[in-house]
Amino acid sequence: MSLIVKKFGGSSVADNDKLRNVAQVVTQSHAAGHQVVVVVSAQGDTTDDLLEKAAGLNPGASRREMDMLLVCGEQMSASLLAIAIEKLGFPVISLTGWQAGMQTDSNHSAARIKKIDPERVRVELDRHNIVVIAGFQGINKFGDVTTIGRGGSDTTAVAFAASLNAELCQIYTDVDGVYTADPRVVSTAKKLNEISFDEMLELASLGAQVLASRSVEMAKRLRVNLEVLSSFRNVPGTIVKEVVKMENMQVSGVARDNNVARIALVGLRDMPGVAAKIFSLLAQAKINVDIILQSIGRHDTKDISFTIAKNYLDEARSLLEEHRESLAYESLVVSDQISKVSAVGAGMVNNPGVASRMFEALASAGINIQMISTSEIKVSVLIDLNDSDRAVQVIHQEFFG
Ligand code: ASP
Ligand code: MG
Repeated sequence: MSLIVKKFGGSSVADNDKLRNVAQVVTQSHAAGHQVVVVVSAQGDTTDDLLEKAAGLNPGASRREMDMLLVCGEQMSASLLAIAIEKLGFPVISLTGWQAGMQTDSNHSAARIKKIDPERVRVELDRHNIVVIAGFQGINKFGDVTTIGRGGSDTTAVAFAASLNAELCQIYTDVDGVYTADPRVVSTAKKLNEISFDEMLELASLGAQVLASRSVEMAKRLRVNLEVLSSFRNVPGTIVKEVVKMENMQVSGVARDNNVARIALVGLRDMPGVAAKIFSLLAQAKINVDIILQSIGRHDTKDISFTIAKNYLDEARSLLEEHRESLAYESLVVSDQISKVSAVGAGMVNNPGVASRMFEALASAGINIQMISTSEIKVSVLIDLNDSDRAVQVIHQEFFG
């Protein structure tokens, strides 16, 4: 008998049929002799709908009241799932985040988990109950409810898996697992049987939206074995763990992120302190910068371009225009018609050929590279948004045939 934490996302619990399906999956595992803890997200688009409803009343609502509202979504899912499980004749209890012992700091809407006191969950498991916990929520030291940020139910599941010493944390979703590329873009994409935490972190942050990257980071840190699998098809998923078999390919996946904008500052003075000034302005505004490129200086001037998430483009542009005088650039050029495509693989650190094969594949397809960035386990290129699908396809073809 082992303890398993199972997390079901919004699309897996969206309506009564889906809830009945989840009840089946959960009770099968209980019937097989496991102790089962379930973490659920809000149904379908509930969180977005609640956000919209509140914005209609008051776009400046306090974060405390927004948390009070948003936690209802996960609580509905938890109780409805418990009701569906009761119907199947299994012992079950649903708990809010705070009943389950989830304690956070007071940063409403983006609270950090401080600790989990799993006593109540343990008691319920000892009574043979299936324990259903509302994800994404906790309580602060003043007794106010909090939420831990969008996509937070993945993190809730990993946190409970760690605190209960679970054998496995299963993240159920509407795809079968982690693929070598988005199957909607590459029809020949294959499901990976396993992937390392580091690769998964890169894929998660590069826009392969299967797992919240914070949950992967936590699983790596707290040594929780993760599995991503389908709620609807009873087939093995993808195991995410520290070390994967060494026969692993150089490249394990091709990811892409279209939420990218590029800003170029042309004709900056070529002297110390210029880059520092630009990026400290952005850092103060909490705007995250990704790829940075600086041209070789000529005639005492240089250019610096960098990428940020598209939704920060307006803010970053006004900030830099405000400081035009002190930054002393000639012109500011922005583009949001771009895409970042990346090849990720733990094996590439020992295989020098990956970047050149990737660039060759893009060149053969006539796709121009605007910027490049690399790390030990990834090569990313910035290209025109119109070329994005094709780029993913030709790179995938190059490495996976
Ligand atoms: N319901 C929350 C969201 O939509 C948390 C989650 O689904 O993980 O972000
Ligand atoms: Mg999710």
